[in-house]
Amino acid sequence: MVFRMQVYVEKPKCTGCSHCFDVCPVAVFEMKDRAAPDVNNDVAPEDGKWKGQHTPEVTAKWANVQDGHKHFAEKHEGGSGGISVAVNGPSCILCQACLVECEGECIVITDDTNNVYRSIYK
Ligand code: SF4
Ligand code: SF4
Repeated sequence: MVFRMQVYVEKPKCTGCSHCFDVCPVAVFEMKDRAAPDVNNDVAPEDGKWKGQHTPEVTAKWANVQDGHKHFAEKHEGGSGGISVAVNGPSCILCQACLVECEGECIVITDDTNNVYRSIYK
């Protein structure tokens, strides 16, 4: 049996911190500019797609934080900013590293027995 995960990012909550991209050992995530044509190229349901607006509660929580990351920047500029897209979900090995590092608490992973794992920021 082939073991395949489904991974997506709830993009309206993504701060663009890039932590998922930094920690994933199998390159599941790519950081994209918000206006990129493939910004919705993962298996996110309709309400997890980027439609031009962030979730207000997440924006309020992170808007003024000075921690060296860009938050809610339009573009990904080599460090952080933009939006994360789970372009390579089936490669996920469920190490859970991204789940504890995701500022927006917006990563959702479903395993092959339909267990669902969601990110919870430490
Ligand atoms: S749980 Fe999956 S997607 Fe997240 S860091 Fe580990 S391998 Fe990557
Ligand atoms: S860790 Fe979460 S909030 Fe940060 S870029 Fe990845 S999906 Fe977005």
